[in-house]
Amino acid sequence: MLYKYSEIKTVHLEITDKCNAACPMCARNINGGEDNPQLPNTELSLQDIKKIFDTQFIEQLERIYMCGNYGDPIAAKDTLEIFEYFRNNNKIMLSMHTNGSAKKPEWWAKLARVIGRKGYVVFSLDGLEDTNHLYRQNTKWSKIMENAQAFIDAGGRARWDFIVFAHNEHQVEDAEALAKKMGFEKFQYKKSARFFSNVAGTTKEMHQASNRKGVPTTLLQIPSNPKYRNAAIDKMSEVAKEDSKIKFLPSRVIDIEGTLTKQYFSKDVTKKKPMEKEWDTVPIKCKVAEEKSLYISAEGIVQPCCWTAGQMYLWYYEPQGGQIWDYINQVGKENLCAINRDLESIVNGKYMQELIPNSWQKSSCADGKLAICSKICGTKYDPFAEQFK
Ligand code: SF4
Ligand code: SF4
Repeated sequence: MLYKYSEIKTVHLEITDKCNAACPMCARNINGGEDNPQLPNTELSLQDIKKIFDTQFIEQLERIYMCGNYGDPIAAKDTLEIFEYFRNNNKIMLSMHTNGSAKKPEWWAKLARVIGRKGYVVFSLDGLEDTNHLYRQNTKWSKIMENAQAFIDAGGRARWDFIVFAHNEHQVEDAEALAKKMGFEKFQYKKSARFFSNVAGTTKEMHQASNRKGVPTTLLQIPSNPKYRNAAIDKMSEVAKEDSKIKFLPSRVIDIEGTLTKQYFSKDVTKKKPMEKEWDTVPIKCKVAEEKSLYISAEGIVQPCCWTAGQMYLWYYEPQGGQIWDYINQVGKENLCAINRDLESIVNGKYMQELIPNSWQKSSCADGKLAICSKICGTKYDPFAEQFK
């Protein structure tokens, strides 16, 4: 069992899968180029939210945060109104993660007043004026600065998250100083956990970004300063090294096999990749089972966490080719949609209470152990937690 509906304390909400930016390591687009063709391109309206979150459910929660896998809350139509609806409850902690490069300063000032002091906004700014757009492609620095300042000046609590790459590692201290000057409450540098090729099953040192036309832009690279490198990725790299003779890996199955395929795990031990062998055997300690946290996607799909939800639309596999679909299809995607079905019955139902937790006991990924659960919540490596250390 994962947790009971009545025990849920936190909801991670993906209000939209749309975005104004094009970050090359975000699954909403192909390396920063064309949009992921599998994405529903949708968002939750205030009306949908009222159906999903009744007042009694909001009452039991301690925290709701808007982030997600494929979109930014500033790209949704009703974000402000939805926060207002949640804020009818004055005890709950409200927050969101954003690139900051959309909406007008007046909108941001209003957001600060709606969220109030029991909440905050995380601005994901990976560099300064000359570098932020190298990862946060299509964003505009002057607009972000204006919006963040409007939010802070209106009393909003802001945090600056900075993903460190080779191209911005020399700017971490200057960015921290700027954050302080502007009135950000906190500055956090992050050691990216994204230098891992899910298709090849190995770590990588580089990732080629491209623009909307498919033209190569920045070659993203892991920082050289050990202080900014993700130690778990470095450890995984040691395990995977027999498969990592090349530093740059194609990121799509189609680039390796010539066609898109399903996510594949071998039953033959001699054919397994080193990391797959680790995932087969590693015990799993589910992060959200401990935190009593639930994920709801832009389609209203209920999942335990952003990581399982993030496996639904991966452009580098064929549609419904991610392993998670083996489980979703057992109950039917429509039966996990909280817009049309009762949230309590979904949370207390077979998918959440049996299929997902039982998968952790399977003997191997080929036998149905969820590789994403081993990767994120395996007890041996924790690239996610390592980002913040
Ligand atoms: S800002 Fe967020 S949602 Fe938008 S492309 Fe970047 S990582 Fe993806
Ligand atoms: S990835 Fe799997 S084990 Fe980890 S939090 Fe999500 S459901 Fe739990």
